[in-house]
Amino acid sequence: MRCVGDIRLAGPVVDASPGVEVLEASSPHPLVSRCAHQRRTVVHVPGVRSVAVGGTELVVFAGPCSVESREQIVETALGVARSGAVALRGGAFKPRTSPYAFQGLGEEGLEYLAEARRISGLPIVTEVMDPRLVGRLAESADVLQIGARNMQNYPLLDEVGRVQRPVLLKRGISATIEELLLAAERVVARGNDGVILCERGIRTYETATRNTLDVSAIAVLKDRSHLPVLIDPSHAAGRRELVPALALAGVAAGADGLIVEVHARPCQALTDGAQALSLPEFSAMMERLRPVGRAVGRSLAAPTRVLGGVA
Ligand code: PEP
Ligand code: MN
Repeated sequence: MRCVGDIRLAGPVVDASPGVEVLEASSPHPLVSRCAHQRRTVVHVPGVRSVAVGGTELVVFAGPCSVESREQIVETALGVARSGAVALRGGAFKPRTSPYAFQGLGEEGLEYLAEARRISGLPIVTEVMDPRLVGRLAESADVLQIGARNMQNYPLLDEVGRVQRPVLLKRGISATIEELLLAAERVVARGNDGVILCERGIRTYETATRNTLDVSAIAVLKDRSHLPVLIDPSHAAGRRELVPALALAGVAAGADGLIVEVHARPCQALTDGAQALSLPEFSAMMERLRPVGRAVGRSLAAPTRVLGGVA
């Protein structure tokens, strides 16, 4: 049983009642805080091979920024699976800053993702922006991504809190770590405790990169919260040549894995092509991650034979 209260006053009651856990009321986010929940959460993503996010194995979610066609997503899914990715990312509903930019294929994109999952065996990670679509996307996706622009969209957080699908919650571009934890608290408080936190770079005065990967956020989140933490080196870097270095830094700092943009033909990508790794670049990055993971006590899934093979 879990109840919220003052841990100092509740001490004798807890001692006398095994199974009762008192959450520290003085924390603004008691459900996601580590002080009341010493054991780290492992979020399980169901699939052909279940994925454990936050266990000893590093997890890598990979795929294009946007789903563009059936061929594109299937080819990329098969390619990243061969190099050891454990889930396929791809946006069907895209949060574009410009109203004139490609907004994603919507429903059609979800169909292509489902086909890529069937052929590759990889679970699907895709973004949901509209609270009215949460039920629909929870049927199609294995992980619901809340993008940086929507980290403080409270009706959306409430809705994803009501479904039983893991949620990848990205840090807002100008959000503090505390605000990220409060957003996660909202999802867990509504009933969904499968939250994965994601540091994806924040806006600073620096313009050499698209955003600034806040490596210290990984250490802070691991210290304050029991939830797993991924990093997104792609949206932090903005340029593919910088992505592997940020990925290695994130793993060395204690991240549980990555979500990274990969495209079979980056120069043809409709969105975020400059930061997308090609399939050979992704494979090379995965090999470089292996020894860094080992140095911090983490393993990386071995490259697997994919289930399908015909795109
Ligand atoms: C994305 O994952 O393609 C995306 C838009 O990410 P973010 O919300 O971090 O900008
Ligand atoms: Mn993107």
